[in-house]
Amino acid sequence: MSGQLTNRYARQILDAARSLIGPEAYRDALRQAGLTRYEEALPPLSPEPGITFEEISAFCQAIRERFGPDGRWMLRRIGHEVLQRDLQAYGWVANLVRLVSGILQAPRERVYNAWQRAAAVVRTETGSSPQVWREGDWVYWENPSCPYCVGVSCAEPCCDLPAGVLEALTAWVLERPVGAIRVIEESCRGRGEPACRYRVEW
Ligand SMILES: [Zn+2]
Repeated sequence: MSGQLTNRYARQILDAARSLIGPEAYRDALRQAGLTRYEEALPPLSPEPGITFEEISAFCQAIRERFGPDGRWMLRRIGHEVLQRDLQAYGWVANLVRLVSGILQAPRERVYNAWQRAAAVVRTETGSSPQVWREGDWVYWENPSCPYCVGVSCAEPCCDLPAGVLEALTAWVLERPVGAIRVIEESCRGRGEPACRYRVEW
């Protein structure tokens, strides 16, 4: 039932986390998640599977617990940083796509197209199967095989890392500050629901 993230995808997440939470919290989260093999060096930039969904879920859980009331906010910030790394990797191609779509499309279309592209990346890099659709004024993302809440139980929706990535992606494509975008997690497998589902507002 459970899948794996590619090394290069896991690398972005660990690198973003390391830059934000400090070396001690980072090391402790790796240990809690059974990821001590990455204490000295990040996963390589390769497309092979490297980290299981259980491991990355436990890593997020360790951060949530350590930072208490700020834990979910911290995971959102890590998500924002992950997107910055993705954009660096794609560079001028991404900027060109944004420029052209900005001329041709209404904001909701731009967000929908950007989320569709992101879903294709997530399918490739994790083997999970997010779906993106529009309904009225809103754009939705739903993943019935979300990698971030495997073996996790939470009272409130708790997949804040991918929510943060979607916030930063939406902000980038609309050329708005990330603080102006809100991604709401409406349902979460960590809470016993069948899929993790997000809606975006701006
Ligand atoms: Zn989830």
